[in-house]
Amino acid sequence: MDIQAIVERQKLFAIEGRAKDIIFRKQQLIKLKTLLQENEPMLFKAIYEDFKKSEFETYLTELGMLYHEIDLAIKNVAKWAKPKVVRTELISQPGKSYILPEPFGTTLIIGAWNYPYQLTLSPMVAAMAAGNTCIIKPSELPLNTSAVMAKIINQNFDPAYLYAIEGGVDVTQELLSYRFDKIFFTGSTTVGKIVAKAAAEHLTPVTLELGGKSPCFVFADANLKMSAQRIIWGKFLNAGQTCIAPDYLLVEASIYQSFLEELKSQINKIVGINPLESESYVRIINQNHVHRLQKLLDPEKLFVGGEVIEAENFISPTILKDVTFTDEIMKEEIFGPILPVLPFTDLQPVLHELKMRPRPLSLYIFGKDSTVQKQILHEVSFGGGCINDVLMHITNSQLPFGGVGNSGMGNYHGEAGFKSFSHFKSILKKPFWFEPPIKYAPYNKLKLRIVRALFG
Ligand code: NAD
Repeated sequence: MDIQAIVERQKLFAIEGRAKDIIFRKQQLIKLKTLLQENEPMLFKAIYEDFKKSEFETYLTELGMLYHEIDLAIKNVAKWAKPKVVRTELISQPGKSYILPEPFGTTLIIGAWNYPYQLTLSPMVAAMAAGNTCIIKPSELPLNTSAVMAKIINQNFDPAYLYAIEGGVDVTQELLSYRFDKIFFTGSTTVGKIVAKAAAEHLTPVTLELGGKSPCFVFADANLKMSAQRIIWGKFLNAGQTCIAPDYLLVEASIYQSFLEELKSQINKIVGINPLESESYVRIINQNHVHRLQKLLDPEKLFVGGEVIEAENFISPTILKDVTFTDEIMKEEIFGPILPVLPFTDLQPVLHELKMRPRPLSLYIFGKDSTVQKQILHEVSFGGGCINDVLMHITNSQLPFGGVGNSGMGNYHGEAGFKSFSHFKSILKKPFWFEPPIKYAPYNKLKLRIVRALFG
């Protein structure tokens, strides 16, 4: 269907207020969940064809989180959408003040490829809960998942309300040329800038969910075995193609060697001795990314892995040791199954280095010393993270998820998602029974004193 025609139909639907009704919002959310559940076999098949991703991993990292977001929205949408009464200052008395959430109107969601369902449909759930119409543009790289989402949405929803448009850069650019009331983008920092510039043309608010190099500290007082277990799981899940994966490890020098051994043994336990044969180990999205990652495999620093099978889009779980901040691999987000490990002795220079770098999406700390934890949290700016775990903060819908600086702006999940797709209209309601004469001329010293006191 013609893109411009869809955008216009969605604008009309939004202007008529048809997506606003709370009952309608709930019905559509229930319908979405039912459709996803009914089509689970097709969703599992598509993602397996794109990534060789197992049903378990697809449920854990995509559908489970999505269902949870839908359930939360259905349960809370009436509460979230309610006007919220706030205090009225003396200067405006008598009066009543309240905040009225309203949908932005027509929204555009541009998804990334690495968790194609969750990263495209979870913002859509937030847009629906907030009462918007929505066009989604799934990433074009995983062809099968993009097609399956478009099929489910376009065959079952009114296109004037929800519509999926498949396509690459040209399609995204055309979409970005239209006036939307809100754009939600997940992807790279480079494309995030293109999206922000296009949105600025129409003064459209944007949420940018971007990436970056997320550091992970391991201190000597951490439980080394459990830390290695959690880090290896989080790094090699989805073959490292996770925006919040620990990008690199900063390991205290006194435990450096023993921790390297621990990491190695956990790879064997978690991913298995032969990841190529493993049904649980995901492939790299395409050959371009295989080549990009291959260039980062410095043979002199190779500690574990490094095996590349181009024809299979396979890169084995890899650890590089004795890496320094000036190495090539420390320049860009890795976004693949390569884990560089950097030893450190003094924390302060490391913190200084982190503060000089672009702000990461996540940061992780393994250790027991809460003074050190507080120091890092206080000094380093980043999107969000965990102490003694990786990735799992994303599973808590009570925690707004998003980046800062180069890793993004705005956030979502749970009520934060609803807020991200809502405008908060501020209203002061005055009665007719009294009008203080104070604000009217002629002004005099007494009135000034009274005004001073009222603001005070
Ligand atoms: P990407 O920026 O290449 O693509 C994202 C979307 O932008 C796709 O839909 C694509 O079609 C579109 N696009 C690409 N080039 C474009 C252009 N020139 N003009 C207009 N649109 C364009 O990102 P990606 O490769 O899909 O995802 C990887 C990146 O996304 C990583 O940096 C990762 O950290 C980040 N990411 C962030 C989050 C998050 O929640 N913060 C989640 C997943 C991925």
